[in-house]
Amino acid sequence: MALLLTSVFKPYAVDDDFGRKENVMELFHNQVTREQGVFSLRMNHPSAGLHLIAENLRTPTMVLDFPSMSEFERELTKGYDTVGISFIVPNFKKAQHMARRVRELAPRTRIVLGGHGTMIPEVERLIPCDAVCRGEGVGFMRRLFGEPDEAPIRHPKVESAFNRHFLGAPTGGTSAMLMPGNGCPNGCDFCCTTHFFKRQYIPYLRTGREVFDACCGLEASMGANEFFVLDENFLKYRERTLELLSLMEQHGKQWSFGLFSSAESINQYGIELLQRLGIFFLWIGVESKRHVYAKNKGVDMKALIQKLRSHGIVVLASGILFLEHHTRENIDEDIDYLVGMEADFVQFMQLGPLPGTALYERIEQSGRLRREVPYEEWHGQHRIWFEHPAFTAEESERWLREAFRRDYLVNGPSMLRMAETYLAGYQRLAGATDAYLVGRRELLRRRLVNHWPSIPVIAALARTARAR
Ligand code: SF4
Repeated sequence: MALLLTSVFKPYAVDDDFGRKENVMELFHNQVTREQGVFSLRMNHPSAGLHLIAENLRTPTMVLDFPSMSEFERELTKGYDTVGISFIVPNFKKAQHMARRVRELAPRTRIVLGGHGTMIPEVERLIPCDAVCRGEGVGFMRRLFGEPDEAPIRHPKVESAFNRHFLGAPTGGTSAMLMPGNGCPNGCDFCCTTHFFKRQYIPYLRTGREVFDACCGLEASMGANEFFVLDENFLKYRERTLELLSLMEQHGKQWSFGLFSSAESINQYGIELLQRLGIFFLWIGVESKRHVYAKNKGVDMKALIQKLRSHGIVVLASGILFLEHHTRENIDEDIDYLVGMEADFVQFMQLGPLPGTALYERIEQSGRLRREVPYEEWHGQHRIWFEHPAFTAEESERWLREAFRRDYLVNGPSMLRMAETYLAGYQRLAGATDAYLVGRRELLRRRLVNHWPSIPVIAALARTARAR
């Protein structure tokens, strides 16, 4: 018995039979710094879920991440009992092509589909397969192979990013991927993750002790003291967070964490606690000024973001354009609202009814889904794929680009904003005497020193007076 787990094949971000040039396989360059030209932050991220599954099966498992089609086919000929193909909706055709090739080249091999793409209606009919994993993958695969479902979770040793570079030069550092759990109970109508996991949180690391032990393991094996946390809303679980911090302080661990968390979760803590925890990056869903999601109710988002930045925590604020209430008159208000947050990074995403979400159900039932748009174009960074009351698809492309450009022209390159944040955090801790906070100050100083060589280049090349 052997299992091959694979992501979809390259090349990516080209117009061909399987994909589109706008669907870039880089998180920041695709949907955050995409209009910042030479100042765009460049990096790739591994398919964390595949590595997590592989680490937790007794069945011998091979992971192919970002293979070419010929690499995939060559691997197939080695004889696998099962092939698992993970994909998102815009990669539907790639998954379909790979599954068809499995049937041709290895007809006795079982095909399992996984990832958010499995929420596509009738996916079993559209893509050759023998099983579909919707939701949590480790337990699913263990059951599929007759392995004990309740065995403890082992954490894989995977870097959070690779090919990292800025201004053409590699940027250093070792950052490990940390996966405490999947899913979010908040149920925002547009959110794929919350719906994929049925509005439940599925923890892999249940307690602060388990998170601490996982970090110790990654530190020992990878030399990592920085962790990018793949968990939709890590700070929501206060008890776990507090236990983690307590253990870090007991053991003198000056680790750093990049996190996703909603405003309500962040506001459970005082700013000093977040500093002590070593949070260096926070991704916050601001979404919209007028359409206030429950997670943001009663929160002064700008005040929150500025407080975080002034304490050395880099913030990515994400917003949604072409919400159903948006008109030509009021969409500017939301763009300005996001730009006015003065966050280090801003993501603009087009409202995207993706299968499985409440939003999809609503748009689909009202007959506004543009079914003629192929799945390759359902990614939120080019044109909307539903009938909007105020915007055409072509207009959505122009407005999206304008939003990114406005943020860049007003706030300057994100890397410069990050340097400002580190400097502010460092200065705020200038008088710190608490040994733990002194350690945090030293970390901020090192981040600033690493950043410093890029500052004169930004000053020389930046388009905006403010940045220069
Ligand atoms: S809070 Fe974030 S992760 Fe949770 S449902 Fe809303 S958008 Fe999704």
